[in-house]
Amino acid sequence: MTFKSGASFDGKRASSGGGGRGGMVAAGGGVGSLLLIGLYLLLGGDPGAITSPEPQQDQSQTAPENSGEDAFAHCQTAEDGNKYDDCRVMFAAQSVDKVWQQVLPEQAGIDYTEPGRVIFQDTTVSGCGQASGATGPFYCPADESAYFDTSFFDQLRNFGGDDAPLAQMYIVAHEFGHHIQKLEGTLGLSNYNDPGEDSNAVKVELQADCYAGLWAHYADKGDDALLETITEQQVTDAVNTARAVGDDNIQRRSGGEVRPDTWTHGSSEERAKSFLAGYESGKMEQCDTLGRGVYKS
Ligand SMILES: [Zn+2]
Repeated sequence: MTFKSGASFDGKRASSGGGGRGGMVAAGGGVGSLLLIGLYLLLGGDPGAITSPEPQQDQSQTAPENSGEDAFAHCQTAEDGNKYDDCRVMFAAQSVDKVWQQVLPEQAGIDYTEPGRVIFQDTTVSGCGQASGATGPFYCPADESAYFDTSFFDQLRNFGGDDAPLAQMYIVAHEFGHHIQKLEGTLGLSNYNDPGEDSNAVKVELQADCYAGLWAHYADKGDDALLETITEQQVTDAVNTARAVGDDNIQRRSGGEVRPDTWTHGSSEERAKSFLAGYESGKMEQCDTLGRGVYKS
């Protein structure tokens, strides 16, 4: 999966997440922190590492040296996106925006608004609380932003995932899938406190996987596509990553028992199947895990 040479990339959209978002934010109590914590636990981390932001004595100390747009000045061309993880995340996000700008009004009758995107290292403060590199990527509904720590791609390998480019972009498209659910008004149905293989939490996660596949369906089509034609191998890489983050795989690899009653994201098989359902059809109605029946074909 490579970005198309000469395509038009916007190197100024992401934030480096250095606490510049209006300072102190309330610790999210609702679905925001639940989504965040859920993903974190899924990755086998220590939940104690997620904390609510503490009131800061001196907010001016929180700005990193290299913040804002300047942090991504090296992301200008397709070649930059093919070379650097942070540019790849940013350009993938741009490609996902492009697809949903068209698909969401057409298939769901909803206008698309772009989510915020924060690419950070070490720690950042989101509208849903503080996140560290160990948190994993997440979407925070409170500030409608997706957060990515590029070191996550290394962790993915520990779970048998792939750090191939399309596998990384799948993660970006999955988090943006939660933004689509926010716009649809369905994201709040997810409740990680009420898990299980048939739970709404799992249905919402599988739909986000399907939406990620749907993005890939369109991402290489049209004269102004940002991506070169996606190969079968690249699809396989993405599907393998969807499998790697299946609840059963993670429970097994973490040395625990496989317990479907605790699942929040779905099995490896279901996650792979959902990605492919979106990829092969390009239709939101094929991603209707919540059974809403509202999509135009
Ligand atoms: Zn998710």
